[in-house]
Amino acid sequence: MDAIEEIFKKNKVKPTAMRMLVLRYLVNNKNAVSLANIEEHFENSDRITLYRTLKTFVESRIAHQIDDGTGIAKYALCAAHCNCEVGTDLHLHFHCSNCNETVCLTEHKIPHINLPERFIAENINLVVKGVCDKCNG
Ligand SMILES: [Zn+2]
Ligand SMILES: [Zn+2]
Ligand SMILES: [Zn+2]
Repeated sequence: MDAIEEIFKKNKVKPTAMRMLVLRYLVNNKNAVSLANIEEHFENSDRITLYRTLKTFVESRIAHQIDDGTGIAKYALCAAHCNCEVGTDLHLHFHCSNCNETVCLTEHKIPHINLPERFIAENINLVVKGVCDKCNG
């Protein structure tokens, strides 16, 4: 069983042909991708199907959605064992103002954020903006 099939099995998602293609695309992309990027890559596929595929991936924790401040939602593959949980899985994202790419800083978790009493964090979106390592060459 290859890595792609294993991800579907682990996250209990039925591996349809389209899902397999989109997942392979996410695996091969180091940077976060938008629906437009995916549409461009799968020219002959229906936009709604692609969108639903992404939605399924996010719901089943195969991928996570990133709001990088550009107004366009981006998607990136989750690490193995990721539950997209505050405190353990959520990591920083970096948006490069030069190449316009958004990357997951998976090893850099979002630090604990103090909230007032009785406030419960369900999701934290922390995007650092600046110049990425490739542009800072
Ligand atoms: Zn995740
Ligand atoms: Zn860059
Ligand atoms: Zn990420």
